[in-house]
Amino acid sequence: MGDSDSSLRDLPSVDRVLRSANADALGRYPRELVVESVRAILEALREGMRELADARVPSEARILAAAMGRIQAMTRPSIRRVVNATGVVLHTNLGRALLAPEAVEAVTLAAEHPINLEIDLTSGARGERDSLILNDLLALTGAEAGTVVNNNAAAVLLALNSLAQGKEVIVSRGELIEIGGAFRIPEIMAKSGAILREVGTTNRTHPRDYLDAINDRTGLLLKVHTSNYRVVGFTSEVALEEICAIGRERGLPVMEDLGSGALLDLSSFGLPREPIVAERIRAGADVVTFSGDKLLGGPQAGFIVGTTRAIEATNRNPLKRALRCDKLTLAAAAATLRLYRTSTNLAEALPTLRWLTHPIEEMERIGEEAVALLRATLGGRYQIEVLDSDAEIGSGAQPTQKLASKAIVISHPGIRPHDIANRFRRGEPPILGRVWRDRFWLDLRGIFAASDLVPKSTARPSR
Ligand SMILES: *Cc1c(COP(=O)(O)O)cnc(C)c1O
Repeated sequence: MGDSDSSLRDLPSVDRVLRSANADALGRYPRELVVESVRAILEALREGMRELADARVPSEARILAAAMGRIQAMTRPSIRRVVNATGVVLHTNLGRALLAPEAVEAVTLAAEHPINLEIDLTSGARGERDSLILNDLLALTGAEAGTVVNNNAAAVLLALNSLAQGKEVIVSRGELIEIGGAFRIPEIMAKSGAILREVGTTNRTHPRDYLDAINDRTGLLLKVHTSNYRVVGFTSEVALEEICAIGRERGLPVMEDLGSGALLDLSSFGLPREPIVAERIRAGADVVTFSGDKLLGGPQAGFIVGTTRAIEATNRNPLKRALRCDKLTLAAAAATLRLYRTSTNLAEALPTLRWLTHPIEEMERIGEEAVALLRATLGGRYQIEVLDSDAEIGSGAQPTQKLASKAIVISHPGIRPHDIANRFRRGEPPILGRVWRDRFWLDLRGIFAASDLVPKSTARPSR
């Protein structure tokens, strides 16, 4: 007891610790931050020494080093690169689509320099920021007009509010979707000021259901792509073409929320087919909305394309100003759409397509190489092998279709799979896989270098 008290008195003051440091070390950070950190370390030591009778007073140099380490941990950038070995290509929690190099370059340019965001460089007159993307967007979708906002949820909200505020919107009960992150059609509808008029049943809706529900309060017929689930079995949905025929007959606009709307036919890359935006416009939809960072492979954005009349209504709406994209998003979107028109090899040019078309033999080769590296790094009694696995597109595209893939599967007789997962997640960069069937899986679909799968700094599995 007496010993510990005297040690406590021997703890140096903040000043003494600071005086012991050379100017270089102190100059690296603002003085207040260093002072605060030294104080925190001293406080922690004081606490520890009260509990441990035989605790020793560390040197000033060690206290300073601990304080510097604390600052380093505190000031590490909050955004960190992670390795996506989850097998979900468009992973919402990991930021969905990666940008093509051309889009990254456009973002950097827009961040570093003034740009022609809202100015017509020919006439010098004020321009529209949408014009940066409009030519390509219309060419790629075949629509008369279009615009872009922050995400597809905003696009749906804006379109409903612009076209059907205070009016009834007819939707099939089979399409009242919830997308992850609390996007629910009935709730977005309520916030838009439109009145939801559900028709049909969960599994079957017929044309007469729409016809019977139409009255003089009806403002819009809405179709929603059931992105993240399928109704199977005894089912019947009304095709967009039929809804459009009803709309034309009754003088009502038709809108489709297409979700991950592809711009081209994915089956030409051997992938499951997703509805294509241009087809939906050709089928007669007045408005189609879709995301920028799902299958399109661009930045987070929500595109609205359709008739001039419908798009003019969204552009007149004050909500448009609140939901408009910033210049970095527009730069990335413009460059991505341009690639669709100019690239001779989109599967190489767009990272999303590159992941989706990653050849299985190449995954296997990278997997074998990574297994050798992992055996050398992990050592011990880890069992590591390459097995067949199922990847998925993610973000609500083709929920029932798996993409054949390969994965490295890791287990250890004495370490639980969740603890193996923790070790990989706590490395630098963090490596994210999944625990399945009591083993830890690193899916190879999005891995193009074996070394990406080797944890660099290896925090030991906790417990
Ligand atoms: C993903 C999705 C949304 C939401 O799009 P965000 O771009 O994430 O806002 C809305 N509707 C459907 C059908 C979707 O698939």
